[in-house]
Parts: sequence; C-alpha cells; structure tokens
Amino acid sequence: MHSSINRRKFFRSATAAGVTAIVAGHATNAPQLMAQSNAPIKPIAIASANGLQATAKAMSLIQEGADALDAVIAGVNIVEDDPKDQSVGYGGLPNEDGVVELDASVMHGPTGRGGCVAALRNIKNPSKVAKVVMERSDHVLIVGEGALRFARAHGFQEENLLTEDSRKAWLQWKENLSTTDDWLPPHDIDAKNIGMNLKSVIRNHGTINCNAIDLRGGISGCTTTSGLAFKIPGRVGDSPILGAGLYVDNEVGAAGSTGRGEANLLACSSVMIVEYMRQSKSPEEACLMACKRIVAQTKMKRLLDDKGRPQFDVNFYAINRRGEFGGASIWSGAKYAINTGEKQSRLMEAAFLFKRGS
Ligand code: ASP
Repeated sequence: MHSSINRRKFFRSATAAGVTAIVAGHATNAPQLMAQSNAPIKPIAIASANGLQATAKAMSLIQEGADALDAVIAGVNIVEDDPKDQSVGYGGLPNEDGVVELDASVMHGPTGRGGCVAALRNIKNPSKVAKVVMERSDHVLIVGEGALRFARAHGFQEENLLTEDSRKAWLQWKENLSTTDDWLPPHDIDAKNIGMNLKSVIRNHGTINCNAIDLRGGISGCTTTSGLAFKIPGRVGDSPILGAGLYVDNEVGAAGSTGRGEANLLACSSVMIVEYMRQSKSPEEACLMACKRIVAQTKMKRLLDDKGRPQFDVNFYAINRRGEFGGASIWSGAKYAINTGEKQSRLMEAAFLFKRGS
C-alpha cells in the first residue's frame, strides 16, 4: 500500500516533469519539426556496403506498401542466409570455442519500440527474433540461452550455423593463437603490442545495418551480425545495443554502425548521431562527429598507431526524416549502399577522418 502510494505520487510528478520536458523540447525544435511534417516523404534505404541486395529488397517492399521495419528485416535476411558472408547469420565466423553466436537489434520509429537479442546460438535470423522480442515480450533485450529458448517458443528452427569455410578459418586462428586473441595480461595505458594485432590473422569485423523510410514516413532500422570473429564466448558487441549499433527516432531519423563494437559501445554513437541530426547537422556531418568522438575517447596506446590514431575502424550510416543520407568512417575507403527507388542500389563513398596509408 505504502509503496503503491509512493509509486502513484512518483508517477504524477514524473508525468508533470515529463510534460514540461516534452513541451520544452517541441518549443526548441518547433520550426524544424513543422518544416519536417510538411515535407514530402522520400522513401529511402541505406545499409553498410554488404547491403546492395538488402537495400534493393527493402525498397521494392516499401514501394509495395510495406512498413519500413518489415522491409529492412527482409533485406538483411538475404545476408543472414548467405553462407558466403562470414560476418552475419548462417556462416558467420564463430567465437573462440568454434560456436557461432549472433547479435541483432531492430527499432520501429512509428511506435517507438525496439527489440534485441545477443549471443544467440543456432538460429540463423536473429533479426526476426529481435522483432518478436519487440512484439511479443515486455522486454527489449534477451541474451544467450534465454534468447534461444524464447526463439524456440516462437517456432524458430535450430540449425548448425557453422559452415566448413568458417570452421577452417576458426581452426587456423586457434592454431595460431598469439597476441591476436582477446585475453589481455595486466597492462597500463602506455602498453603496446598486446591484443588486437590487426596486421596478422584475420579478426574480421562485419555486420549489416539497414535503415529505411517507408511511404508513410515511418522510419525503422535493423543491425545484425555474428560479431567479432573468435570472440570470447558471451561477448556482446554494439549491434544489439540500442543507442550504440542502432537508433531510430521517427521525428529525426535513424543511424547504425559496423566496425569495432567495443569502441562504439563506449561512445553510444547511434543515439549521438540522431541527436546531432536533431540539432540540424546533416547525416554525414553527424556521422563524422561520432567518429571524432571515438577518436577523442580512445586513449589506450595498444589501440593507437604511432601517430596516435585508432588502429581500428568504425563506420556509421544515417538518414534523416527528409530522406537525406550520409555515412562516415574513421578511416578512408569505406562505402555504403543506398536505394532511393531504383531497381539496383548503388555504393557511395563514406566520408572519413584519416586517409589510409597516411
Ligand atoms: N560491430 C560488430 C561488433 O562489434 C562487428 C562489426 O561490425 O564488424 O560486434
């Protein structure tokens, strides 16, 4: 009784505070939001560079009237199902025990909902499970064994996701364990040459992020991945974390990422990009600002080159409500896929902070 009175009181004051905040927010953004609501809707799909087919599929569904979330999930399912893409879904590179563990997130702008799964084994379409988490549970993120049981309960079929090619790549890595695994000895900020030796054995990053606007102006996104190759079992990257690997606000736009998840988890870049866009930055400017923030936050010498720049890369992709788009990476050379209604998607050069080889 006592606690329920307290809860009611708290709820009333929280609501009052919330209303003030919302009114203040609308007042600040009023001209921009009004302009947005009158602007014509421009359907668009953006994805990481491995999303040429995904964006084309998403756009064809959007043109048939699909909700943006269903469209992007159908798009990324192509990559999840592809055994040749060793960074996502079936055929993804496994963890250090040789077991494939998948992460995914979805976010639906029109209803302000999201769902995520992490370290999910044996189910090749974690993006679909993430949507079921959003629609059929009162949770946002379910991980590991619980995520698998939830997926099974909803009729998802289990299968072995480890292909022969990925098993061989894992075995090669295991047989060459050195400074390239994820177990670090005690070390300080100045330590170098431990962990993350990028020049040796393949420690692939890879993921697909796909965001879209549908014919009703609904904005949604999805990020799905097998995460860092040969990771410590149970390691969760940025992809299934809303705010880090994906963020959508139907009043503003959407952003997502690929690349070193550890860096992005420490910066929560996708929500930052959406907030920069809310403050009128273009999608590309907003993505570059997120890259700069990660550079500024990276202080451990083992992660830096001899000029003090990150040895890793992180890539961002963003669209705003007006259908403008952009992408940026820390290092040059990254591309992203765009479709604004054409049969075939096109690849665009991402903006960058540092030129490779410089
Ligand atoms: N961001 C993903 C992760 O860290 C991997 C990647 O995109 O390369 O799990």
